[in-house]
Amino acid sequence: MSSPTLVIVGAGVLGLCAAFELRQRGHAVTVVDPGEANASRVAAGMVAPAMEAAIDDVSSDKAALFRAGRDLWPAFATASGVALARRPAEWRGGDAKAIAARLEALGFQARRDGDRVITEEDYQIEPEQALAALRNALGEAVVSARVTGLAVSAGGWCVDLDGGVLEASAVVLATGAAGPVEGAPEATRRLIADIQPIRGQIGVVARELTPHVVRGPGAYVAPMTGGAVIGATMEPGRRDTAPDAAVGDRLVEAAWRVLGREAKPLEIEWRAGVRGASADGLPLAGRAPDGRGLFLALAPRRNGWLLGPLVGAVVADAIEGRTPSPNARALDPRRF
Ligand SMILES: Cc1cc2nc3c(=O)[nH]c(=O)nc-3n(C[C@H](O)[C@H](O)[C@H](O)COP(=O)(O)OP(=O)(O)OC[C@H]3O[C@@H](n4cnc5c(N)ncnc54)[C@H](O)[C@@H]3O)c2cc1C
Repeated sequence: MSSPTLVIVGAGVLGLCAAFELRQRGHAVTVVDPGEANASRVAAGMVAPAMEAAIDDVSSDKAALFRAGRDLWPAFATASGVALARRPAEWRGGDAKAIAARLEALGFQARRDGDRVITEEDYQIEPEQALAALRNALGEAVVSARVTGLAVSAGGWCVDLDGGVLEASAVVLATGAAGPVEGAPEATRRLIADIQPIRGQIGVVARELTPHVVRGPGAYVAPMTGGAVIGATMEPGRRDTAPDAAVGDRLVEAAWRVLGREAKPLEIEWRAGVRGASADGLPLAGRAPDGRGLFLALAPRRNGWLLGPLVGAVVADAIEGRTPSPNARALDPRRF
C-alpha cells in the first residue's frame, strides 16, 4: 500500500487541470487513467466564451462564468506549457445579426461585417499538445490503470485499481461520461448516473482550410497543426464512438457552406467522443453530495477545455476547505 495522496480518477482535461492546480498548490497527487481515447483528445480545443455564449443564447451569469474560465487560461497555459493561440473567431451565415446582438448584450467585443461576425474574445488550444503538456508537467504522478472500486478507509479512501491499491486522503472523480465507480456513495452514484452522454463527431483534415476558427449553421472549421478539424455534432443519448459516415457527410457539406467555398474532395479521419452534461449544462465541480473526502470534476458538456482551469481551481479550493466563490457555488455538485 502506498502512502496517502490525493487521487484523481481520470486524465481528461478536468482531471489533469485539477491535478495540475493541486500540484501547483503543493499537494501530492496521483492521477489514474487507463489511457484510452477520451472526449478531451477529440475536441477542437476552442476556448470560446463569446461564441459558445452566443450560439447557445445563454444567460448573462453563464456568460460571465465562461469569461471567467477563459480569463484563467493565459496564466494556466504559461505555468503548464499548454500552447494558447489567440486569433480571431468568426461566425458566418444567416444568423449573423442575431449572433452579433447576443454578443453585444452579453458584453463581448465583436464586429459585424454583412453575414460575418468577428470576435477576438475566443482562444484556442490543441488538445493533443495540451494533454501531453499537462501529463508531462505531472510526470510520474500519472499512473496507467483503471479504478475498479472505492471503499472508505481510516485515512480517507482505499482506491482499488486493476493492478494495485492506492490509499487516498481524498478522491476526485473526473471520469467523463463514464458511469459511477463501484463503491461510490449513493447520492454521488445517482448524480453521476444522471449525467447525459452527448456524442460528438469531428473530422481531422491534413490540409489547411482556414487561418482561424470559422463557425456557422451546422458546422465549424478550426485550424489545427498540419491542417484543420471539421466539427462537430451534438448527439444527446449516444455513447458510441465509431465514426458514422452519414454524420460525416452532413458535417462536410455544412463546413463547405460555412466556408463559402465549392466542395472539394478531402481525406478525413473521423473521430467521435462522448461529452458528459449536467441538467443545467455546467460542470459538477467541488465536494460530492455525500462521502467525506470525495470531490467531483465532471460534466462540462461542450466546454471542458474552456472551463478546465476554472474547474481545477474550484476543486482545489473545495479540497482545501476555502470559502466558495460565486463561480464555485454555480458549479457546486450539491445544487441539484
Ligand atoms: C467532437 C468534440 C469537440 C469538442 N470541442 C470542444 C472545444 O472546442 N472546446 C471545449 O472547451 N470543449 C470541447 N469539447 C468538449 C470537451 O472535449 C469535453 O467537455 C471534455 O473533454 C470533457 O473532459 P472530461 O475530463 O470530463 O472527460 P474525458 O476527456 O472523457 O476524460 C475522462 C477520463 O476518465 C477516464 N476514466 C473513466 N473511468 C475511469 C476509471 N474507472 N478509472 C480511471 N479512469 C477512468 C477515461 O479513461 C478518460 O480519460 C468537445 C467534445 C467533442 C466530443
